[in-house]
Amino acid sequence: MKIIVYRGAEGIGGNCIEVRSKKARILLDYGSPLPKIDPVSHRSVEATPEETILDIPGLYGNSSIPISAIVISHTHKDHYGALFAKPINPGIKVFMTEIMEDVMRITAKMSRDYKKLDADINYFRKGHRFVIGNIGITPYLMDHSASESFAFLIESEGKKIIYTGDYREHGNKANAFKQFLAADMGPIDVLITEGTQAEVEKGPTEQTVMEDIEGLVRGKTGTLYVMCSGQNIDLLTSLAGIARNTRRYLVVDGYAALVLERLKALARKQGVELRIPGLDTEYLKIIDNNATKRISQMTEYSETYGRMRPKMVSWEWVRGDQGRLIIPVRANAQQWIDENIKDFRGAMLVYSMWEGYREEAGLHETLEYFRARGIGAVPIHASGHAYFSTIRKLIENKRPRCIIPVHTEHPEKFTETFGNRVRVLKDGAELDV
Ligand SMILES: [Zn+2]
Repeated sequence: MKIIVYRGAEGIGGNCIEVRSKKARILLDYGSPLPKIDPVSHRSVEATPEETILDIPGLYGNSSIPISAIVISHTHKDHYGALFAKPINPGIKVFMTEIMEDVMRITAKMSRDYKKLDADINYFRKGHRFVIGNIGITPYLMDHSASESFAFLIESEGKKIIYTGDYREHGNKANAFKQFLAADMGPIDVLITEGTQAEVEKGPTEQTVMEDIEGLVRGKTGTLYVMCSGQNIDLLTSLAGIARNTRRYLVVDGYAALVLERLKALARKQGVELRIPGLDTEYLKIIDNNATKRISQMTEYSETYGRMRPKMVSWEWVRGDQGRLIIPVRANAQQWIDENIKDFRGAMLVYSMWEGYREEAGLHETLEYFRARGIGAVPIHASGHAYFSTIRKLIENKRPRCIIPVHTEHPEKFTETFGNRVRVLKDGAELDV
């Protein structure tokens, strides 16, 4: 077998890794590079399609062994975004979960330059092994800040490879990581692990961060703004808990409300009742911003939108009840905040200083907007990614023969700790397994 890390070996963002047997080729993730700060305008901008697509044989053109499948680990754009940049060969099957497809399609429709996902989508389910050619793939649910995130055990020609995707053990799905450790996978030849937070030995958990935020707002009379991606379900769930405990309202837009509702509905279809906020949450309210308007125009979600309407509040209501609100904000939120709220007395802003800039273009401008209005941003430190103590735990548990760090700016941390078992690759380099 061969492993080729096309992108992600030398930095964070745009993961794409090939696993090749003698008979079959699969790609693990096909992400877009992270947004960059434009040197002229100083605005953060998404990578162009030209910067996003990779020249991999068989992906757009022909190749002697075709690519059979692309397996997506989770719905962060640095893991799937390149699928939207240019239609891939129609013969390539793209594997994800039903929830992931839904989140991906909703997110794409929210974008101003909407692009359709033109690919043959197939579903996998957690714990259910599927086979591509002579490559077996078993998905394992992981704890991460996306709606759902998976690691994969890949087996072929007597070899075993683990690809972690993005993970942590300090979020609301910490149990998923425990189960991953408990799963007996036999001897592992190669572990491909993310290392976004490899330079941090240990950090706070989502739980302690939420207690800190609750302490911050208790007894205060201003709105709490929290930088939060619309699909960071763990954070939205924690914020709902804080709203309940401090008698505040959690005020989301139609996009977040739709993602929460779709997740609940799709999980229910599989017999799982998710404990996340939704339209049945008493203290959840919905604002009528552009994102909500866009949802209202999508006929395919008209039933859900109909159920959102009783939860919708006017801007007068928002302005009049500022002391009791928790408002998650995403990139470019300043556009509707500036038009409709204006009053920031007592307001607080919480953001993750490690990841805020990285996920979406425009977050930088949003932070600047708050800063210019004298709103002291309080950094919180729960990362979506594994601290090094977690990575160490995984390596001690699975005892891989070889370790390939990806999605990291600190590969040296791996070589210093795990010695010559670590292979630090260059983008595009091949490794024989
Ligand atoms: Zn991620």
